[in-house]
Amino acid sequence: MQSSCRNAEAPIPIFEDANCDVCGSWDSKELVKLQGSAYHECNTCGLIFARPMPINFVELNEASYHRKLDKYIEKIQKRRSKNRKKVKPFSRY
Ligand SMILES: [Zn+2]
Repeated sequence: MQSSCRNAEAPIPIFEDANCDVCGSWDSKELVKLQGSAYHECNTCGLIFARPMPINFVELNEASYHRKLDKYIEKIQKRRSKNRKKVKPFSRY
């Protein structure tokens, strides 16, 4: 397979237990369950954070961004060709 095919695949999140980014406490309560993770509230300072946290979050964010951007570009190009067809009958004026 070519290397360009790898970019189309969604990366798999790799989770690692996380403590509070503000005060460093490990004492937190779960607020909302997520797929493979959860939102926790720090019992010391009140910060809400993901626990466990994906350690490859940069890769996950980039992949998500590029997938959405590719869909958006496709949508714009379809709309552009559709609008050109609408305008074509008026081109002689
Ligand atoms: Zn905290």
